[in-house]
Amino acid sequence: MSGGARVGLVVVSHSLALADAAVALALEMVSADPPPVAVAAGTPDGGTGTDATAVLDAVERVGGPAGVLVVMDLGSAVLSAELALELAGDLPYEVRLSAAPFVEGVVAAVVQAAAGAGLDEVAAEAGAAGGAKAAHLGPQEAPDGPPAGASRADDAPAADASVAHERDVTVVNPHGLHARPAAELALLGRGYDAEVRLTSRTSGRGPVSARSLVGVQSLGAVRGHVVTIAATGPDAAAALDAVVAAVEGGFGESTDGAVTGEGAATTDQDTAVPDRGTAVAERGARGSDQGTAVPRPPEPADGAVHGALHGTPAAPGRGWGPAWHLDDALPALPGRPDGDPAAERQRLEAAVGAAADDLRASLPPEVGTRGGGAGPARADRHDDDPYVAVVRAHLLLLEDDALLVPAREAILAGAPAATAWQQAVDAAADGLAALDDDYLAARAADVRAVGRAVRRRLQGVAHRLEARSGVLLARDLSPDEVRSLDPAVTTAVVTAAGSPTSHATLLARAAGLPLVVATGEAVLAVAAGTTVAVDGGTGQVLVAPDDSVAAAWRAEQDAAERRAEAARERARGPARTRDGVHVEVAGNAAGPQDAAVAAAHGADGIGLLRTELLFGGRAEPPDEDEQLAAYLAVAEAVAGQRVVVRTLDVGGDKPVAYADQPVEANPFLGLRGLRLQLERPDLLRPQLRAVVRAAQRTPLGVMFPMVTTVAELRRARAALADAATDLGLPGLPPGLEVGVMVEVPALALRTRHLRGLVDFVSLGTNDLTQYALAAERGNPHVAGLSDALDPAVLALVAATCDGAGPDVRVAVCGELAADPAAVPVLVGLGVRELSVGPRSVPAVKERVRGLDVTAAADLAGRCLALPDAAAVRDLLEREVPGG
Ligand code: PEP
Ligand code: MG
Repeated sequence: MSGGARVGLVVVSHSLALADAAVALALEMVSADPPPVAVAAGTPDGGTGTDATAVLDAVERVGGPAGVLVVMDLGSAVLSAELALELAGDLPYEVRLSAAPFVEGVVAAVVQAAAGAGLDEVAAEAGAAGGAKAAHLGPQEAPDGPPAGASRADDAPAADASVAHERDVTVVNPHGLHARPAAELALLGRGYDAEVRLTSRTSGRGPVSARSLVGVQSLGAVRGHVVTIAATGPDAAAALDAVVAAVEGGFGESTDGAVTGEGAATTDQDTAVPDRGTAVAERGARGSDQGTAVPRPPEPADGAVHGALHGTPAAPGRGWGPAWHLDDALPALPGRPDGDPAAERQRLEAAVGAAADDLRASLPPEVGTRGGGAGPARADRHDDDPYVAVVRAHLLLLEDDALLVPAREAILAGAPAATAWQQAVDAAADGLAALDDDYLAARAADVRAVGRAVRRRLQGVAHRLEARSGVLLARDLSPDEVRSLDPAVTTAVVTAAGSPTSHATLLARAAGLPLVVATGEAVLAVAAGTTVAVDGGTGQVLVAPDDSVAAAWRAEQDAAERRAEAARERARGPARTRDGVHVEVAGNAAGPQDAAVAAAHGADGIGLLRTELLFGGRAEPPDEDEQLAAYLAVAEAVAGQRVVVRTLDVGGDKPVAYADQPVEANPFLGLRGLRLQLERPDLLRPQLRAVVRAAQRTPLGVMFPMVTTVAELRRARAALADAATDLGLPGLPPGLEVGVMVEVPALALRTRHLRGLVDFVSLGTNDLTQYALAAERGNPHVAGLSDALDPAVLALVAATCDGAGPDVRVAVCGELAADPAAVPVLVGLGVRELSVGPRSVPAVKERVRGLDVTAAADLAGRCLALPDAAAVRDLLEREVPGG
């Protein structure tokens, strides 16, 4: 049946009972001749939910020349209705979505439509329907006002009767629910048929959808805050478990602020700070960030901006040259729309789509845009590229209901697309900027950056940053703008606004581009062409400095360059002690990018590839081919040197959604590492097959994490042998070494039973320390206890070396390996490989070269006899100063 002269109404709700009741109430208000009304509510199996095809079906049942008004309840009802319209394509009549409150809207719309009102009038009456109640009751804000950063899209009722699962968790990672965790939550959320919402019990903000990057960040949840996670829908229990595990696990970040695994796929950790030595310019007018005080700038000679400006140091290094400005002005916002709401909305969707396409096009070829709505999640060799991570976050923002829903609503209310979009962006960005936590507040820059990108598309402004030589002065820069700068041409950047923790800053650091932010508006008044000298390490910006400044900086630059080059040169050579013992110094990596950094710093291969990070943050496990490609990419990045692939170390502080881990009271003592994989052949088998296949083409080691007993290792070895047999091989490929992580004290004490079963062992001192000292890693309350130089931990290292005997090589890949104080002790105890963060390789090699093994063994023996870690550190400070 189809509607005719009267407006048809479609009522969309999660609950059939609710929709029927609202319609029944409305029909009581009208005469015997009601307008056409169709209900699309609940799921086909009688459950709670909404369905776009049911909405479309309802529209078609009541649609006619007078048009259709759709009234919805909350959340996904709006999304389903929107999707229905997309599915509908061109209908011969107008269908309008109403932002009206549900019950009042249904009643008003039915009454108006029954009276023969046109679509405009029906929609207007429905939209105004909540007004009478509001006027009667007056302002309804809580005493402190509305929660900062809560967006209209997230205005779900606090007590949704359909909430099935709810739990409180404490945020443990240092910066809390910032962009990368928020993006991880958004991705996790997509893997489940569930609506997950978060409310901060500490700040009172929320609820917000776990799928909304803006919403999650607007909670302002930092370490120590308690967040209530509530899930509804068919997969509620599983979704809740996954989200709780991710939050409790700190999203793979160590609690000292670094990401577990140097250079892991972060968007906003400060792990990408280049070596000071390598960050200095190798070309043009770029100076070192170290050295003597800067000569005083001259006094201003005229009315122009001269002298020194101060900003916040953001990316180290010095650069100077003629100033140039970024012309990024946008046209004024239109006061009136060009077309009707439907046309304006279409313009907005097209602009958002085009901005997303621009972002994707800015990526290196073949990068997967998981999280950006571009197909299934796949890891790729660019996963640890900070720019790729930023783009993925921005793509999520372009899909974020916290921006799109208010913009669409404003368009429906008559605003032009650009104005509606800008209002939504401003509200979201202002909400973030108002947060107490500086780090989270800096995420507002991301919202503004995507906001500008869409505005440029909407208002037809071509944007191509034509990089010029010299110092760029700008109000602020977006990550893609930084990305488009060539540090060989643009020697430094100064921004009036900005933050040292923005994504743009992160990228500037990664590129070695000196950057000073937050200098204030004065910098924009510096005339183009004026010489500007910038020190990104101190935040000093000298306008029209004396020639002697450039001369002094240039001399320092040359000296720093020579020092850095000499260190790099030496790092390429082997690390031999003074008495000729060779110690391998390899790099720890989470992917090919780390591996390339390690190679550039002279690493002897990769001693630990953390595959749970390489393939983390996704809903599906990587298949065998994908893993093979990733391992070969890492090997290629280190020019075919040996790569040690650690099998998935999931569990404890490293949850991954696809591992389906059980809920455990003590996850660090539970189904972790090899324990989990032995229970999950579907995860172990493809990984071992990929390892065996890779080992046929490149030197490889495989090692198993969290092993406690020899029996476990035997089972893992059997699985490895099976993988080779499956592949039609007579045995393991000759280039494949087998090893085991020594992280559990029990294994450290029985290493001699590993002889003949392994080629090497690698001490995971991070975990070994927590298990030996019963002090959970990352727990700030027991941080004082967990020093890996505790003699008890050193005794386990000694036991490992003794037990391993002459034929099993002993490595250390925990953080202790990069501790300069520890290097002599480890080598003295018998360790012959140190695997460290990529940028630590040169320093560790230098440290090894200064050692004498006999003296180091004596020193280690004395450490073992001491009562505690403090005494060990005192001794080392006295005996090996600088350690
Ligand atoms: C360790 O425990 O020392 C180790 C290297 O493993 P991870 O830090 O990845 O747990
Ligand atoms: Mg470990």
